[in-house]
Amino acid sequence: MARYTEAVCRLCRREGQKLFLKGDRCYTDKCAMNSRSYPPGQHGQGRSKTSEYGLQLREKQKAKRYYGLLESQFANYFEMAERRQGQTGENLLAICECRLDNVIYRLGFAMSRAEARQLVSHGHFTVNGKKVNIPSFQVKPGMVIAIKETSRDIEKIKNNVEANAFRQPPKWLEYDANNLTAKVAAVPAREDIDLPIEEHLIVELYSK
Ligand code: SF4
Repeated sequence: MARYTEAVCRLCRREGQKLFLKGDRCYTDKCAMNSRSYPPGQHGQGRSKTSEYGLQLREKQKAKRYYGLLESQFANYFEMAERRQGQTGENLLAICECRLDNVIYRLGFAMSRAEARQLVSHGHFTVNGKKVNIPSFQVKPGMVIAIKETSRDIEKIKNNVEANAFRQPPKWLEYDANNLTAKVAAVPAREDIDLPIEEHLIVELYSK
């Protein structure tokens, strides 16, 4: 599985906002956005004007980076979103949001989407009682996501659940904290997705 392997804090600096890609560290003073909130590179502090195309491109890159997706995956999702009824931009975000790795992150079983992807790949979660180790797996309304029985005592997962106990999962996921399971109540609506993304710019970009 191809993935981005460079220093991820550069991605936040490039987008000019925190993308929360490093788990715990993102909430501490060590976050690079506290000390170097300008774009990386030699000309990082010199860039100012952005064209319309530049704005659209940045918005697409930001969305891609939030979810840790590569260009081809994101473009495939856009095609899927276009084929669905409703607004393409909202469909696109809903598709990204319904990835199993994102759901695991949203439920607080992982500290970042990257960690969620790794935990899913290692087979620590089930969907409707069956092990699923595909991070891109699309959850659908009615499905039940759970930590696999034999994975519940893994230190990493236990610590994550404990550390994220205060976090409120989005309302499209009905979380049962006692059993560490969640039922997908609905496809997430735009207002359920708390990311500062202007999806209409992404649609404009791909429609050129
Ligand atoms: Fe982004 Fe987290 Fe790095 Fe801060 S610590 S720059 S939020 S990845």
